Amino acid sequence: MSSTIKPLEFNGKWDLSPALESTDHIDVKKQYELFINGEFVVPQKENYFSSINPASEKKLSIIAEAQEVDVDNAVLSARKAYNGHWGRMSAKERGKYIFRIARLIQEKAKELAVIESLDGGKPIRESRDIDIPISAAHFFYYAGWADKLVYAFANRNPTSVGVVGQIIPWNFPLMMAAWKIAPALATGNTVVLKPAETTSLTALKLAEIIQEADLPPGVVNIVTGAGKTGSLLVNHHDIDKIAFTGSTDVGKIIMKSIAGTNKKSTMELGGKAANIIFDDAPLDQAVEGIINGIFFNQGHVCCAGSRLFVQESIYKIVLRKLKDRIQSLVLGNPLDKNTDIGAINSKEQLKTINKYLEIGQKEGAEIFQLNCDIPNKGFWCPPTLFTNVSQSNLIAKEEIFGPVLAIQTFRTIDEVITKANNTPFGLSAGVWTDKGSKIFNLTSKMNAGVIWANTYNKFDPTSPFGGYKESGHGREGGLHGLMPYLNL
Ligand code: NDP
Repeated sequence: MSSTIKPLEFNGKWDLSPALESTDHIDVKKQYELFINGEFVVPQKENYFSSINPASEKKLSIIAEAQEVDVDNAVLSARKAYNGHWGRMSAKERGKYIFRIARLIQEKAKELAVIESLDGGKPIRESRDIDIPISAAHFFYYAGWADKLVYAFANRNPTSVGVVGQIIPWNFPLMMAAWKIAPALATGNTVVLKPAETTSLTALKLAEIIQEADLPPGVVNIVTGAGKTGSLLVNHHDIDKIAFTGSTDVGKIIMKSIAGTNKKSTMELGGKAANIIFDDAPLDQAVEGIINGIFFNQGHVCCAGSRLFVQESIYKIVLRKLKDRIQSLVLGNPLDKNTDIGAINSKEQLKTINKYLEIGQKEGAEIFQLNCDIPNKGFWCPPTLFTNVSQSNLIAKEEIFGPVLAIQTFRTIDEVITKANNTPFGLSAGVWTDKGSKIFNLTSKMNAGVIWANTYNKFDPTSPFGGYKESGHGREGGLHGLMPYLNL
């Protein structure tokens, strides 16, 4: 008896069963206070704001808003710790505390990953495999440097800067806190950190970890609130340095406010990276690199490869592969392990992204989006690409900070270098080619702090990260990341 086997049909979508990460093991309090002098304290004016889950719009917690007097208290406690026990502690002892924080982050990794996804909307695969491990790795890495500064900067007598005000954005909440706090402590400074209003929860969990690690009071203080709290910190007379990560616009405001003072600064600002695909590139890998470059963390990435340059001879095939790959992406619940594209971080950010989607179409670019169901609640934007884009289009010039890719073509190396450098930003770039010589040629002529070759969005604590031009100044990560926290 013969039977016919029906061929499997594949329409570009996998039929995946839900694989929800559990939330049983997480502890999110109904209300969070400010973390000052080693304790959680009620803000003087008792003002609180809500932190919501952007995938469901449900309230997760209410969080204290720091006013002037609270920021004063936090800076005072950081100053006392700097002039007292922390300032007198041996570098070796200091290092032990930083190691302890790193180990506790590892221990609580599962809880932190779930909270990061709930609070920020990012897929659990990313918070679990990227955000939290990299946060721990930064503390481990800088713990190792604490007692080796005299070797790292031989004959330069490195000394700490003092009390550091640190302000971070919402796209990698715990990771940004780690990038800031770990090198500051390793170099002997004390810290007042302000997380972003929409994503304070993991910074507050870090405060609990810091308590558990028995870090002396006042060494790390965390003041929650919105931009006004950040500005109070920036303008505080007893701050020695501001380390800021955020938008170029706010970076400029901060630089104006500290001009004429003795405050040092590090600015990690926006970007509009070129991701360049040559006709000799391994195309399937390059397509994965394009997808990862722009859709990782819903495109809420300063170094996102948001401007794609494809060599004209392979444009059609790259575009087809890219569209096919986009159709296979899964948008949905960030806590589902199958999810590729989570929620947009806030209603405001979704509004900004949608504004650019309209502008792009009005400018004459052609839009293509993942065809998928959008959940009823929450803030969502399907992965989007624009073709027929020109250099002068706003979608090719301005940072959108969402899952939106603007595609252009090129014929020669010189042409693509000129096009790639035609931006006020200079944070990152990617190049895909089979030829090492092309990589060297291109990387030496492009104005970008980080350039990835045949890969994208790779982060490592040993590697410096930072920008040129309007993408900021100073470096985080590696030996370079110690320097802004030292007087040399
Ligand atoms: P914003 O500049 O709006 O905010 C960044 C931080 O600054 C937040 O904590 C914010 O508070 C605070 N803030 C806002 N206004 C002021 C002010 N006047 N004075 C002091 N602090 C203030 O950026 P986003 O949070 O929207 O983050 C996205 C930006 O961050 C993008 O441009 C992105 O490219 C950039 N970024 C850069 C990175 C880099 O390494 N170069 C890495 C990651 C992001 P609140 O949010 O509570 O209003």
